[in-house]
Amino acid sequence: MFKFLKEKIKQAIEKITHRIETKEVPKGIKEEDKLDEKAVEKPAAVEEKIEKDVSKLEEHEKLEVKEEAGKLEKAAVIEEIAEKIEEKEQAEKKGFFGKLKEKIATRKIDGKEFNELFWELELALLENNVAVEVIDKIKGDLRMSIVDKPVKRSEVDSIIQRSLKKSIRDLFGIAKVDLIDIIKREKERPFIIVFFGTNGSGKTTTISKIANLCLNNNLSVVLGAGDSFRKAAIEQIEELGRRLNVRVIKHQYGADPTAVCFDTVKFARTHNIDVVLLDTAGRQHSNRNLMEELRKIKRVIKPDFSVFIAESIIGNDAVIQAKVFDNEVGIDGIILTKVDVDEKGGAMISMGYITRKPILYLGSGQGLNDLKEFNPDNMLEQLNF
Ligand code: GDP
Repeated sequence: MFKFLKEKIKQAIEKITHRIETKEVPKGIKEEDKLDEKAVEKPAAVEEKIEKDVSKLEEHEKLEVKEEAGKLEKAAVIEEIAEKIEEKEQAEKKGFFGKLKEKIATRKIDGKEFNELFWELELALLENNVAVEVIDKIKGDLRMSIVDKPVKRSEVDSIIQRSLKKSIRDLFGIAKVDLIDIIKREKERPFIIVFFGTNGSGKTTTISKIANLCLNNNLSVVLGAGDSFRKAAIEQIEELGRRLNVRVIKHQYGADPTAVCFDTVKFARTHNIDVVLLDTAGRQHSNRNLMEELRKIKRVIKPDFSVFIAESIIGNDAVIQAKVFDNEVGIDGIILTKVDVDEKGGAMISMGYITRKPILYLGSGQGLNDLKEFNPDNMLEQLNF
């Protein structure tokens, strides 16, 4: 998980940091740098200042010498003065170069330069399927912490990392939802869950995982073979039902999916089943007939919870699909499947922020137990760039 993204972000941060840290004091970019440049370009001005101070010191020393006249040899007095002049010169130089070093170590980045630098990171995020709105948020946050502020070159790396981590944590800010807890708290039975998603996204597989989870939580289950469109969809869910020892309600291929769902709920009511899990057809999310069909299921069946199944590996497309399904049919939560084969992770980062829907679980394999809770802290840990 995030293997590719993590690497890319790391590389981008390194490049930006290197560019800021090693960048020479640019001529005429910043006021404070300009001042120092002037000083460097005109050492005569500095020398003049030291000379003035030295002559003051000489005057002072001469007075002291006069007071102690007779005690010291003239040559020794001159030597002493020379030493003090040198000391003074050294102190002046040290102070000046110390200050200059500080100025060089601190940089201010303006908006234009920031946009140029952020491009590295933008590219890394785009390559890893992170949605444009999410990139804009990350960019805005980073801009706030870095632009037009004195930034120590040695701290650029940690400032970028801190800002990125905070942005990503904000992205996961949607309140967590525990589906099993919701089912248990709902007194009315059966609790009806309908699953939406495009063909091959993992609906049927995920339904079997949720059924398994329900059984492990002492909740009885019935499955509805609502996908009467896709070839072999009915046989697939029947096989999963057999494996779980759970009843599957089905009609013929081409039958009205709402009728199948209706019969499944009826079966649950007459057999005192706790949870109804309804499969539906996928086809294309842009298919108007499909959306009509799904809306009809929702209208007639009135499910307690609608879950959208999204394939993590298709990245931003999964986010767009989720938005379409939510607008057209309405969804309450999302399960992201195939995260075990997704090395980019852009969908995981973008999904919650853009849809404002909770991610319930992550599908992490083809087995019945390959269902993980979505844990933002765990995500951040995995993303430890
Ligand atoms: P449906 O058309 O939406 O019902 O999709 P299926 O449940 O038939 O899944 C399509 C394919 O994806 C099957 O080969 C599943 O085994 C596979 N699949 C589903 N979920 C996951 C997952 O989390 N990880 C992996 N690696 N494969 C999955």
